[in-house]
Amino acid sequence: MRVSNYLLSTQKETPANAEIVSHQLMLRAGFIRRNASGLYSWLPSGLRVLRKVEAIVREEMNKAGAIEILMPLVQPADLWEETGRWDKFGPELLRFQDRHNRDFVLGPTHEEVITDLVRKEVSSYKQLPLTLYQVQTKFRDEVRPRFGVMRAREFLMKDAYSFHLTQESMDETYQAMHKAYSNILERMGLAYRPVIADTGSIGGSASHEFHVLANSGEDLIAYSTDSDYAANIEKAEAPMPSTTLAEPTQEMSLVDTPNAKTIAELVEQFDLEITKTVKTLIVKGATEEAPLVALMVRGDHELNELKADKHDLVAAPLEFATDEEIRQAVGAGPGSLGPVGLNMPIIIDNDVAVMSDFGAGANQDDKHYFGINWNRDVDMPQAMDIRNVVEGEPTPDGKGTYAMARGIEVGHIFQLGTNYSEAMGASVLDENGKSKVMLMGCYGVGVSRIVAAAIEQNHDDRGMMLPESLAPFTVGILPMNMHKSHRVKEKAEQLYQDLTDAGFEVLFDDRKERPGVMFNDMELVGLPHVVVIGDRNIDAGVFEYKNRRSGEKQEVAFDNIVEFLK
Ligand code: ATP
Ligand code: MG
Ligand code: MG
Ligand code: MG
Repeated sequence: MRVSNYLLSTQKETPANAEIVSHQLMLRAGFIRRNASGLYSWLPSGLRVLRKVEAIVREEMNKAGAIEILMPLVQPADLWEETGRWDKFGPELLRFQDRHNRDFVLGPTHEEVITDLVRKEVSSYKQLPLTLYQVQTKFRDEVRPRFGVMRAREFLMKDAYSFHLTQESMDETYQAMHKAYSNILERMGLAYRPVIADTGSIGGSASHEFHVLANSGEDLIAYSTDSDYAANIEKAEAPMPSTTLAEPTQEMSLVDTPNAKTIAELVEQFDLEITKTVKTLIVKGATEEAPLVALMVRGDHELNELKADKHDLVAAPLEFATDEEIRQAVGAGPGSLGPVGLNMPIIIDNDVAVMSDFGAGANQDDKHYFGINWNRDVDMPQAMDIRNVVEGEPTPDGKGTYAMARGIEVGHIFQLGTNYSEAMGASVLDENGKSKVMLMGCYGVGVSRIVAAAIEQNHDDRGMMLPESLAPFTVGILPMNMHKSHRVKEKAEQLYQDLTDAGFEVLFDDRKERPGVMFNDMELVGLPHVVVIGDRNIDAGVFEYKNRRSGEKQEVAFDNIVEFLK
């Protein structure tokens, strides 16, 4: 590609509204442009990387035996009514009507459509197992679109769905997909971890997420220092305190306390230091619309006072909730909390609760309760949904201790059981001619998110350093003063021809720009190999080569360049 024919669209300044490095670099290197909140256009360089991610995903899917199809982005509401998700899904689901006033959605995922398709196409166990996939645009009306394509509203996903007669077959495909996802991320040269994941509102028996490790990641992963055990902290297992788990006997509702404070306010008011050892409790069952994170704060508890104990855990003071609010929030389970002297959940920004020694509550749809009990003198209901993991604690498999890392969820695999097939009547006849509901699995990869995640892991202060498998071009040709020197022009043209013929993806900077500008652009876009040609080189018969990642420079004889780059 000649830059003069191309749309390079690089920019020097770091955009003010981009918080994380991948977002900044994707704007600066001319990868993406924002059209509206969570909506992006892909410019040529970005699209080349996106297509490379897509190609690797597609190859590994095909290798794992999945078959490609394409389903519509627009989906009829009736299918969503069949599974009950028309009512349950919440505001991430964008709904609209056509000219006949019929309801439709923009697909955030495709379980309904695929199950509808398969129930019509598949009728015998002989057609199973079957894994179908697509690479398709998804739309989710994210409450906080941010970080560019990392959390967009419209994004590209590879979603696969598998259908089975038996659990054995389901397990086999699940393992094959687990392997395919590992292959995908390894081919991209990304540091990643598969982690045990929460099955959330979709339910099902087994689930793993694939996280690209990065400090900007929105998820917290707990992993063992000495084994392969790793889990999303939402799901990590740890020894529970002395009290036993008991199921709450009634659903509890949470009140929005008028005295609610933000964490920032709490920290400031009480001069708190929230350290890594603060216990973070994440409540399973919190929905997308009302994610609820309980920050467990505990300590030498004194009324109306926040005080950190030696574990750096702090307690929220009584003044944040009234007795009535406490009563409402706690409900009246066995050994329920009395309203006196206890500090209760405070809803902060509608999605974070700070809690004291003990408490209980539920998120706003009133369905998912949680509770905690740290007071060993009081026999209280303790919600089953709470996981509590701290760095340095022993692990569930008995090997090593917990360590924490931040991750970007780039893939997610699920065993769905019969949740969808049952609701939609997707069954086959087995060997004995008996009708059996199919078991299902689903497997998603955030194709567009991977581009951003890869940049988070591969950059320096000069720009991107994407691995060769993902870089928009692999070789850059940088001629010095080509518009003045005929010899340089001729040699550069020849090199462009030779490298292109040899199958390299070459970006030939034939602009009338200063070498410094051209060099900066190549580093910003992150071309793995750059070859420089000037008059001096022609006299010496060597190209100047620079490796983007190592920074190493080397002279390479004209005749050896193709071999050298291979
Ligand atoms: P998240 O927890 O980040 O919201 P999710 O669990 O809702 O993701 P899934 O339903 O598991 O997402 O979808 C499969 C994959 O699609 C995710 O693992 C992620 O890589 C990608 N993805 C989900 N939401 C977005 C988004 N808003 N923008 C870009 N990619 C996304
Ligand atoms: Mg989500
Ligand atoms: Mg998730
Ligand atoms: Mg997920």
